[in-house]
Amino acid sequence: MSKSQYQCPQCLSSGTLEVIVKVSAKVNQDDIDNIETDIDEAKDSSHEWDQNSAMSCTNCGCFNVSSYFENDRTPIESFRTALTYYGIAAPQSNEELMSLEYSYLKKLSRAVERNK
Ligand SMILES: [Zn+2]
Repeated sequence: MSKSQYQCPQCLSSGTLEVIVKVSAKVNQDDIDNIETDIDEAKDSSHEWDQNSAMSCTNCGCFNVSSYFENDRTPIESFRTALTYYGIAAPQSNEELMSLEYSYLKKLSRAVERNK
């Protein structure tokens, strides 16, 4: 698993994240009843967001501020979180879990496959 800066803490997906951003849009008003905004015509096309912006995972529906998705968990914490999310009971001690890592990785990858 490659490390990415943002990752869903529930399902460990990093390619299914969406964040609410602030963008500028040009205000087009042809007549009083037809006022539209166009982000492609905006002078400033930057997208603004920060640690408090709302982020969601379209894979599992996890929703929180973006800092919650920062991948600052240790590999063992991430592994445990994912096992819990997919309903796989894991041993209490980290040592035991790591010694059985391969068999739990196989269980996890099967669970991820079933969820696709
Ligand atoms: Zn997710």
